[in-house]
Amino acid sequence: MNEPAKEEQLVSKKTLPEEKTPAKEKTLAEQAPSSYECRSCGYVYVPSKGDNQGKVPPGTLFTELSPDWRCPVCGVRKTQFVNIGAQGAPSGFAENLDYGLGINRLTPAQKNILIFGALGLGFLFFLSLYGLH
Ligand SMILES: [Zn+2]
Repeated sequence: MNEPAKEEQLVSKKTLPEEKTPAKEKTLAEQAPSSYECRSCGYVYVPSKGDNQGKVPPGTLFTELSPDWRCPVCGVRKTQFVNIGAQGAPSGFAENLDYGLGINRLTPAQKNILIFGALGLGFLFFLSLYGLH
């Protein structure tokens, strides 16, 4: 018996520089760019959508829009817009979460009804057959 004791040592020495640490103090709302609402007509400029009519590519911040940019609906200047903060992602996520919980709450109840209902029916059927003999 000559078993070579082979010990594999997995040394995970990673020397990663700590310069790629993301800023973690920011909330979702702060990371998302602010939307601006037209005080004149209520049109909302969403940076992630841009402005098709004004040929503004998606991802353009409101502050990056040219001074000549006008409201695509009523045509007022940028100065008539007010910052209404980040819109969309956080609230939408919350709604989806609630929706999922609603379904999850229903499913076990339906399962129980199906299982116990089938068991009960089967048992009754079995008893009725037994009673016939
Ligand atoms: Zn407008």
